Amino acid sequence: MGFSDFHGNTDVVNRLREMLARNHFPQGIILAGPTGSGKYTLALMLAKALNCLSPIVTDGLPDFCGQCSNCLRIAQSEALEARVAEAVEARENLRETDKKETRLFVQTHPDVLIIPPDPPQMMIKVDQVRRVIETIYFRPGESKERIYIFTDSSFMKEAANSLLKVLEEPPDFATIFLLTENAGELLPTIRSRSMIISLAALPVAEVENYLAKRRPDWNPKQRSLAARLAEGAVGRAQSFDLATYTAARAHARSILHAALRAADHTELFKITETYRAGADGRDKTEKLLRTLYSLLQDLTFLNSGTPEFIRNIDIEPELKRLAESADFNWIANASDRLAEVERGMRRNLLRSLSLDAFAVALERT
Ligand SMILES: [Zn+2]
Repeated sequence: MGFSDFHGNTDVVNRLREMLARNHFPQGIILAGPTGSGKYTLALMLAKALNCLSPIVTDGLPDFCGQCSNCLRIAQSEALEARVAEAVEARENLRETDKKETRLFVQTHPDVLIIPPDPPQMMIKVDQVRRVIETIYFRPGESKERIYIFTDSSFMKEAANSLLKVLEEPPDFATIFLLTENAGELLPTIRSRSMIISLAALPVAEVENYLAKRRPDWNPKQRSLAARLAEGAVGRAQSFDLATYTAARAHARSILHAALRAADHTELFKITETYRAGADGRDKTEKLLRTLYSLLQDLTFLNSGTPEFIRNIDIEPELKRLAESADFNWIANASDRLAEVERGMRRNLLRSLSLDAFAVALERT
């Protein structure tokens, strides 16, 4: 338990810990990096280190104990997706009038507020930033530092302007983390008031080595697949649901085969029929769409002579055969059609209908 559990980006992490040691931790900090680089994990670790009740020193630098009541309560926010899903569900259960006024937060410690993008627009809204403004100037009750973590950088305009006002005059006892895949998305004035720290994703080989220790139940091919699909995120790779993924992928493969090779669509319609409306159907369809995208991307890598980037490494020979009949224009067209299915889903068109239309539109003529 401690910073040694963070994989990769050692220099960056040590630099941040040196700031902790000198008591010069920035009030506004942008953690920028691709999916899987550990932005959220690192922000929570720093939140623990700033507030640990029995702080320790490892490798000569500040660390957290992972066991005190502050560390433990902050750790409850680690499963971000699950916590956000709970918050969304709680809001769904409110009366209509309350629903509109309730903004989304994750909070497992009174002084640590996590602000995820608010569905359905998936943007940070002004009322969420308002909560930050309402609380940030009060001294923390059970810790040294108030922590705010924005998990995404898509701000509504008014929200970004409000945040800017806070960043202009933050109190000494508060730290605001802004997580982003691309710091360029943030207002230049927000960037200039924060310290920008860039994180890189882990190389696939490193994730595979890690999985060899943590997932001995997987064979090397499975480890290699999970490492690639998790895009460098060790935590996600370790808990990757291979069974669900391979099931979705089997359907995606049949759809591509039917589009590129088969003349008869009976098999295809049997598959698309199993995708129904409702929450389950939606989830299943989303998984199928993501898998189709990842296969299409692999075909692009193969066609552009960069096979080392493909993710579905365990079915490389099959992908190579498919790539022979899928040229650049076909792939581009397929991606456009997929985007249409996604838009249709948002408008709640019948899933199986739009999937059928997708498959038929891909047919090579
Ligand atoms: Zn602690």
